Amino acid sequence: MNLEKLVRENIKKLTPYSSARKEFSGTANIFLDANENSFGSPIQTNYHRYPDPLQIKIKEVAAVWNEVKTSQIFIGNGSDEAIDLLFRIFCEPKRDNILICPPTYGMYEVSAEINDVAIKRANLTENFQLDFAEINRQIDENTKLIFFCSPNNPTGNSLNRNEILDFTKNSNGIVVIDEAYIHFSSEKSFVEELRNFPNLVVLKTFSKAWGLAGLRVGLAFASEEIIGLFNKVKPPYNVSQIAQEAILEALQNFETVEKTIEKIILEREKLVTNLESLSFVQKVFPSDANFILVKTTDANSIYKFLLDETIVVRNRNSVELCEGCLRITVGTEEENAKLLEKLKKYEESFIH
Ligand SMILES: *Cc1c(COP(=O)(O)O)cnc(C)c1O
Repeated sequence: MNLEKLVRENIKKLTPYSSARKEFSGTANIFLDANENSFGSPIQTNYHRYPDPLQIKIKEVAAVWNEVKTSQIFIGNGSDEAIDLLFRIFCEPKRDNILICPPTYGMYEVSAEINDVAIKRANLTENFQLDFAEINRQIDENTKLIFFCSPNNPTGNSLNRNEILDFTKNSNGIVVIDEAYIHFSSEKSFVEELRNFPNLVVLKTFSKAWGLAGLRVGLAFASEEIIGLFNKVKPPYNVSQIAQEAILEALQNFETVEKTIEKIILEREKLVTNLESLSFVQKVFPSDANFILVKTTDANSIYKFLLDETIVVRNRNSVELCEGCLRITVGTEEENAKLLEKLKKYEESFIH
């Protein structure tokens, strides 16, 4: 992999925006450099000041936990921002392409379309693993990004680690591993492989296991060079003060998060067993995530029935390899019990 060759020319040439808070990082008592409102705000907090553009306090904690340098971390407005920035850093519109392995997370495709970048597809195999023969057929010299989501959304399974590592070793593109659901899996994170692979980017998020989807905070881990490019292209103040403060508070309460993860996994296993007992369920796919993909005899009618009972799940019936499938997020014990009650009602009304 040659990073120089992968980066867009305009990004290489770019002089990044230099914010007031970037130019000055010493100590001062009077801040008249950023056109903020020195009189404060209607609410009694420090929101009248711009936030730390590089979110260094959060990165200091994340660096220790992930055993990387703070300069190997990007923090964004959700991992969706990291995905979009990857396109803007590496993909020349109308010329370059990316590779995805459907069925997978929809944002890779949407980001590609927004950035006018072509999409190559190599569907997963029947058991939802990567099809490397097809991947290698699809890739060409303009394939800049290869997205692997593990555990994968919407299938729920983890992808084979050694196969990905072998592929990454020989890849001329940037391999992006999306680990949004890694906390629910017993698999190791790919972050520890960053030292071996300069073309690896690992995405994580506070939206799932951490329960902070509303804050919009996600992370990208990569080489210092790649993170330098993220910092060059990102909007200067991309993570708000309120989000940074809340994340710092959450980081001090990881035990609570660990307990929640354990509960979700327990509920997931209960839900798997209960779903398998329903006559209209043809297959419950094994899950390493906080959701379950379920193949049914009639996804559309079950979806509609649940909606009428005020329960919303995700209908994946029209997604490749997911015919008849619903994707169900693991809820609280009460929510899952309610779901099962309604599914039994469906079984009685429509199956018998
Ligand atoms: C939910 C999810 C994300 C999270 O995106 P955020 O922007 O961080 O909320 C990323 N990737 C996948 C595969 C997801 O399912």
